[in-house]
Amino acid sequence: MVILGSTGSIGVNTLEVAQRLGLDVEVLVAGKNIKLLNTQILKHKPKVVVVANKADVLKVNHNNVYFGEEAILKVIEDSTSDLVVNALVGFLGLAPTLTSLACGKKIALANKESLVACGAFIDIGKIQPIDSEHFGLWYLMQERPVEKMIITASGGAFRDWDIAKLQSATLADTQKHPNWSMGQKITIDSATMVNKMFELLEARWLFGEGNYDAIIETKSLIHALIDFKDGSTTAHFAHASMQLPIAFALKEKMQENILGHVDLLKVGSLEFKEITTDRYPVWQIKEALLKAPQRGVVVNAANEVAIEKFINKEIGFMDISKTIIQAFERFNELPKSVDDVFAIDKEVRKFIRID
Ligand code: NDP
Repeated sequence: MVILGSTGSIGVNTLEVAQRLGLDVEVLVAGKNIKLLNTQILKHKPKVVVVANKADVLKVNHNNVYFGEEAILKVIEDSTSDLVVNALVGFLGLAPTLTSLACGKKIALANKESLVACGAFIDIGKIQPIDSEHFGLWYLMQERPVEKMIITASGGAFRDWDIAKLQSATLADTQKHPNWSMGQKITIDSATMVNKMFELLEARWLFGEGNYDAIIETKSLIHALIDFKDGSTTAHFAHASMQLPIAFALKEKMQENILGHVDLLKVGSLEFKEITTDRYPVWQIKEALLKAPQRGVVVNAANEVAIEKFINKEIGFMDISKTIIQAFERFNELPKSVDDVFAIDKEVRKFIRID
């Protein structure tokens, strides 16, 4: 397989699962973490490697190394693998998703920004999402009339903080996730609840029109619930590990044990909470966004630039949500093509950077 983002949180877990399932790795794509990449090269022996920057090429212990975004697309086109695991972070992952699909490859898609920004133009027939919530929904789905599909959120790093202190929260504070160990951006997205809004959008593209919502489950042991028309509700329980959705995305017929079961007697109790707009202001636009999911491109672009500004200490934590809402109010044109998606993305970024 081709693994994009091998040195990230999903990439590392994917390589572990691939090794366990005895799957071969043809291409590794990483960003700047050359030390970890070199360890992965030794262990998984890829034929081709790509890194983000030219300056790092000579530091990579491999004789077939390329660099940059164009090279990522080229190695996908040249690869013989049928499967591409896209675990890149951000809008950067969209072009590789589109190229993989154009080449007829199957995609194990962790890069949620691809669907959020461009879901209307992505053929989901070739996509297996790597996300515990969508995996949970898929696992629960059966041939019965569904009333509502619900995914759960942990509430992120600030679920118990005094709301008055949130504006001065630091980058380090955002990274103290209560249940999951993930990359920097998605951990910030969990704290703002943008991540859950993105997952609702992804669900909308993956499972079609329907009634979607999210609630907080503080232990991250339930990932999805389905309310059926008959009054039954089913829930998907699993420990907070990405290895389960990854394993199913890599291998169609999964028979192996991947995780230990959740022992409900040890868990004792579970706690559920509503997602409120005072702590998570971005939740104000959830309904409008779900009604026009093509507008995900605006939210994604605004979020990426707002995060950059937050990391550079140009804005406070609560300003990330404010920036997104401002962009959402300003831009309401729906993209009609993939080219429109790239154009709107560019325009929104410019607007937020100048502001
Ligand atoms: P990380 O930040 O941990 O990893 C991102 C990966 O992308 C790293 O390998 C990084 O390389 C690489 N990368 C970044 N920029 C470039 C570039 N310019 N060229 C090549 N490679 C680059 O993110 P996560 O693994 O947490 O998340 C990946 C995606 O999966 C995101 O879209 C996220 O929302 C989604 N996701 C993540 C989950 C999780 O549990 N982590 C759960 C569900 C979805 P390097 O580190 O070497 O610089």
